Amino acid sequence: MTHQPPVLPGHRIGIVGGGQLGRMLSLVASEIGYDVAVLDPDPESPAGRVADEHLCAPYDDESALTWLKTHCQAVTTEFENVPADVLEQLSSQCIVSPSAAAVSIAQDRIQEKTFLQRHGLQTAPFSAISQPSQIAAAWHALGGGEAILKTARMGYDGKGQSLCGTQDEVDQAFRAMGEVPCVLEERVAIATEVSIVLARSQDGQVACYPAAENVHTRGILDYTIVPARINPSMADKAQVLAVKLAHAMDYVGVLAVEFFITKTGDVLINEIAPRPHNSGHFTQDAADTCQFEQQLRALCQLPLGSTQLRSAAVMVNLMGDLWGVSGEPDWLVILRDEQAKLHLYGKKVPKAGRKMGHFTYLAEDVEIALDKALALKQALSEHSGR
Ligand code: ADP
Ligand code: MG
Repeated sequence: MTHQPPVLPGHRIGIVGGGQLGRMLSLVASEIGYDVAVLDPDPESPAGRVADEHLCAPYDDESALTWLKTHCQAVTTEFENVPADVLEQLSSQCIVSPSAAAVSIAQDRIQEKTFLQRHGLQTAPFSAISQPSQIAAAWHALGGGEAILKTARMGYDGKGQSLCGTQDEVDQAFRAMGEVPCVLEERVAIATEVSIVLARSQDGQVACYPAAENVHTRGILDYTIVPARINPSMADKAQVLAVKLAHAMDYVGVLAVEFFITKTGDVLINEIAPRPHNSGHFTQDAADTCQFEQQLRALCQLPLGSTQLRSAAVMVNLMGDLWGVSGEPDWLVILRDEQAKLHLYGKKVPKAGRKMGHFTYLAEDVEIALDKALALKQALSEHSGR
C-alpha cells in the first residue's frame, strides 16, 4: 500500500453508522479538532445528533456516498453489517479503514472461523451448515454434546442463536432460522470470557490494551472487569493471538477479539469485531488513550496512543430494562460518586435489551472496583428519578 500523508485536525472524517460507537468516536474526533459527518438513516441516531453533519439516508444511498467520498478525507464504520461494497466504493476516493475485506470476514461467522483456523488460531469446534442434509454429519462431528446453532450473518447480543441438546433440536432451530447459512458450534465449558482490544496502524504498529474480563447475561455483555482476573500467562497468550490475527488480516483500525478461556485452560477465539467494542469502553476513563481516539489515530494515519491502564476499572452496561421498573433511573446515584463516570447515548426510547449507556467505576484495586460497581448497579435498579 502506498504511504499516504496523515489526515490532520481541521479535516473531515466520515462515519458509516450512527449508533453509540459512532457517537463516542464523533465526540473524540470533534474534541481533537476534526469535523465529523455521519451516515445513518435514523433522524435521531446517537451519532447523528452530535456530528457536524448528519447524512440521514440509507447506507447504500448513492448521493450520500458521493458526498462522503468528496467531502471526507477518511471514512470508517462503526458496525460490521455495513455492506462491504459500500466501503469498497468509498475507498476509491478517500482513506477507508478497516478495509472492506477485513469487515467482510467479520460479517460472516463461517468466513471468520475458517480464516481463524487457516491461520492456526483455535476456535471452538464447529461445522458450517447451509442445508438440512448437512445437519446429521455436523451434529456427529461435534460428538453429541450440547451445541449452539448461530446464524452466519447479522447475529449480535446473542440474537440468532439457539442452544441445542439433540439433533432434532438442531433441525428445528435451523428451520426456525429460515434455513439461512449457520454454524453449529460445540458448547464449550467456559471458565472466563475475556477480550483484547487493540489498534493496528497502516505501517503495522500494534497497541494492545490489557485483557478485559467480560460477564454476559442472557448473551449480552453485562459488565467488564479490568484487568481480567486471570493467570497472567493466559492474558499474554490472548494478546499474542489477537496481535497475530491483526497482522494476518493486515488490519488497520481498532479490532476487538473475544476469547473463551475454557475450564481445561484452552484459549479459544470466539469472535472478532472490526471496530471499537463495548468491552473496550473502560478505556475512556481508565487508560491513557481511549479506544475511540485510537480508532481516529489509526484511520487518520497518526501515531497510536499509549494503551497504559491508569487504574483498575469496571464498566457496567445500562440496558433499557432498567427503565422498565420505574421509568428514568436516578442518575444522581452514579453522578454523586466521585469514582463513577456516566456515559449515556442519547437514545430516546428505552427498550429491553437495548444499550442505553454505561458507567465505569475506577479504583486502585479491581475487587473494590467490582464490589462498588455492582452496588451502584443494584442501587440504580432500585431508584427511579421520577
Ligand atoms: P454475539 O455476536 O451475539 O456476541 P457470541 O458468539 O459472542 O455472539 O455469543 C454470545 C455469548 O454466548 C458469548 O459471549 C458466550 O457467553 C455465549 N456463547 C457463545 N458461543 C458459545 C459456545 N460455543 N460455548 C459456550 N458459550 C457460548
Ligand atoms: Mg460476542
